Amino acid sequence: MEYFQVDSSVLPQHLSAIFPMTATQLPTSATNLAKTERDRQKYHIVTFGCQMNKADSERMAGVLENMGYTATDEAETADLILYNTCSIRDNAEQKVYSYLGRQVKRKHANPNLTLVVAGCVAQQEGEALLRRVPELDLVMGPQHVNRLEDLLTQVFNGNQVAATEEAYIEEDITKPRRNSTIAAWVNVIYGCNESCTYCIVPAVRGKEQSRTPEVIRQEVLSLAAQGYKEITLLGQNIDAYGRDLPPGGVGAGVGGKITLTDLLYFIHDVEGIERIRFATSHPRYFSPRLIKACAELPKVCEHFHIPFQSGDNDVLKAMARGYTQEKYRRIIDSIREIMPDASISADAIVAFPGETEAQFENTVRMVEEISFDLVNTAAYSPRPGTPAALWDNQLSEEVKSDRLQRLNHVVNQKAAERSQRYLGRKESVLIESVNPKNAKQLMGRTRGNRLVFLENSGLSESQFAGLIGQILNLQITEARPFSLTGVIA
Ligand code: SF4
Repeated sequence: MEYFQVDSSVLPQHLSAIFPMTATQLPTSATNLAKTERDRQKYHIVTFGCQMNKADSERMAGVLENMGYTATDEAETADLILYNTCSIRDNAEQKVYSYLGRQVKRKHANPNLTLVVAGCVAQQEGEALLRRVPELDLVMGPQHVNRLEDLLTQVFNGNQVAATEEAYIEEDITKPRRNSTIAAWVNVIYGCNESCTYCIVPAVRGKEQSRTPEVIRQEVLSLAAQGYKEITLLGQNIDAYGRDLPPGGVGAGVGGKITLTDLLYFIHDVEGIERIRFATSHPRYFSPRLIKACAELPKVCEHFHIPFQSGDNDVLKAMARGYTQEKYRRIIDSIREIMPDASISADAIVAFPGETEAQFENTVRMVEEISFDLVNTAAYSPRPGTPAALWDNQLSEEVKSDRLQRLNHVVNQKAAERSQRYLGRKESVLIESVNPKNAKQLMGRTRGNRLVFLENSGLSESQFAGLIGQILNLQITEARPFSLTGVIA
């Protein structure tokens, strides 16, 4: 996935302010509970960051439930708290430390409370985090998600455990506890082999590891059997799928290697799955063959999330992105040539070290000219351990905030314009759930990934709720920049 990196150079100070070093180690959760006792225990997971982290949390929840734990929404009554962390944005990282601070206080009163920090901050900090926060029982990087039960067993045997070494990701042995019963994420490749100069992901998520097409298809078949209608294939750089797999396997395409395109063909016929999405794409590898497959395969949705990061070639070079803005534009043109209505979203970073006003304006121009449906924007801020963090041409906070505001203005304007095309149209919408902010509405998504709200017009409560999981033809009556309202056509 594509992110910008933010400041955590002050991390040790933050940590020492929240968790003063203690000479005596507090007892870890040496709760060697029998499974029956565990059945009465509750877990609470807090997830920060991207879809990959959300998918990891669902797998860890599956492991915990398999161990006998039950979920609770109340952190204050949980016996096991797991923070699945993100180090991409500074605010997400700081939030973890403040949440953790509260639980550390609870642990002083209840030494049997089990505290786990997983995800990217855990990977980055490793054992240092255990030394700094001795109340923690387990610190585990993203590559160890499937080993959670093993690691907890070591904790229950009285150890403080850090699992952050580079590891081969074991195939899922436990069913994830998924938050949705309609749409599911399916990891297809872990890690990233790119070296974008602002990005910490390769350091925390390791080298690329593709799952085999057979195991992915098995998972999709099982999701279909459970009634899921939509899947999103996930990878940090999903276009790299298959390049680490040996040639000549099942589903292999041109040259005996399997690619993302081949994988789409390989799983497309699974009955019951109506929609297939994938994210995140890298412009360097986005191929004409993939575009053709998306147009050909009816279940693959016409939505493409392709981060461009900057509209200026010199900045792209400094970011080590490996493409030019011209190549990016050609990709979008080729998509729109075959799928004129395709929805295009992207990520962009402003105020990268050394970015001039003119270079920033190239990014603004790119947004204006391409007319995206959505752009996730962020101001650059250095992440320790990345090359760009060490450069001495960092820009001031004023410049960052000014450029971000100016870019956001154009992004919103363009999204509002793009949204208007839906007004009055009939759209196929997969209804996913009740709107958590308005119980009288249901919400779902178009194939282009626009959020749509549906008002109840005359159905009984149970008939209305019965629409969840259905693909409805909705007439769009209102269009806002990032969401729509519709009625049953
Ligand atoms: S290094 Fe990998 S995950 Fe990070 S921005 Fe580049 S492609 Fe995306």
